[in-house]
Amino acid sequence: MHKDCKEILFTHDQIVKRCEDIGTQISEEYKGKNVILVGLLKGSIPFFAELAQHISLDVEFDFMAVSSYEGTESTGNVLVKKDISNDITGKDIIIVEDILDTGKTLHTVRAMLLEKGAASVEIATLLNKQERRLYPIQAKYVGFEIPNAFVIGYGMDYNENYRNLPYVGVLKEEVYS
Ligand code: 5GP
Repeated sequence: MHKDCKEILFTHDQIVKRCEDIGTQISEEYKGKNVILVGLLKGSIPFFAELAQHISLDVEFDFMAVSSYEGTESTGNVLVKKDISNDITGKDIIIVEDILDTGKTLHTVRAMLLEKGAASVEIATLLNKQERRLYPIQAKYVGFEIPNAFVIGYGMDYNENYRNLPYVGVLKEEVYS
């Protein structure tokens, strides 16, 4: 385990197993549809890559980079730093995200994609912090529910570090206090 990590919440094997389950569910529920997976950079990359390999449908990939987050608290407006490049008119979108916290980011991004003409926009998130929710948004697919702790690894960072850890862990308080 990394020295800055207090405990491991989910091992790589547990995450892969959840991706298999969610991938199977998506494959059944989206049969016959034109699916685009929209990953939010950068945190979703490991989850996006694992999940996509367990979806047995033809899917397109697209990515957005947005920011509404600094340090360890969600703040400010959602800024689009990189927009999608595919035509999403009439397509069924699944936004793939690392963690759903206050819901500000996904509430805003979902509205943007519907505005561009998507037929439907649902959310697949690796982690859900339900108790932190401030915006009216729910993920259709959730890897794991977690309590209000600051987590790192499997794509998630603190000041751009720890994204490459193959597990999800809790960051030691002394690292950010
Ligand atoms: P929201 O807009 O839902 O408040 O925030 C979502 C974003 O905040 C996530 O995509 C992620 O970038 C960041 N975030 C929220 N909680 C955590 C956390 O515990 N650890 C890390 N590394 N990022 C978090």
